[in-house]
Amino acid sequence: MTDKNIIILHVEDDEVDAMVMQRALKKTDLKYTYHHAKNGIEALEMLRGTEGRTKISPRPSVILLDLNMPQMNGHEFLKELRSDSELKPISVYVMSTSSDDRDRLEAFGQNVAGYIVKPLTLESYVEAINTLNKFWQLTELP
Ligand SMILES: [Mg+2]
Repeated sequence: MTDKNIIILHVEDDEVDAMVMQRALKKTDLKYTYHHAKNGIEALEMLRGTEGRTKISPRPSVILLDLNMPQMNGHEFLKELRSDSELKPISVYVMSTSSDDRDRLEAFGQNVAGYIVKPLTLESYVEAINTLNKFWQLTELP
């Protein structure tokens, strides 16, 4: 069985977290294409190909979403994504430092596929991605 290529859009304002994710992805057995947006606005522009940005095509298989971000945070981004008929099927996994009940409930209210409290080390990122990948290989993606 050939592994599916997973097209990832990582929405994360923290450069260090984005770098750790990129380093972690390289250490997994995942076949992937990686795109990075610094906040919700930039992510929507990349998904839609607006404001002179190249549209991500084919559409990402999964979005890994931080919640606390300037300009447009993760919750605002989710509302916008879910009200867009073309973008709303995309699977979103929240990756946040917040384990706050309100954040979790609000995110699941927007039908996120999972909510992961940000791992602290590179190794735990690798483990998290490998675990998600096992699931992504098993299931059909939108
Ligand atoms: Mg952040």
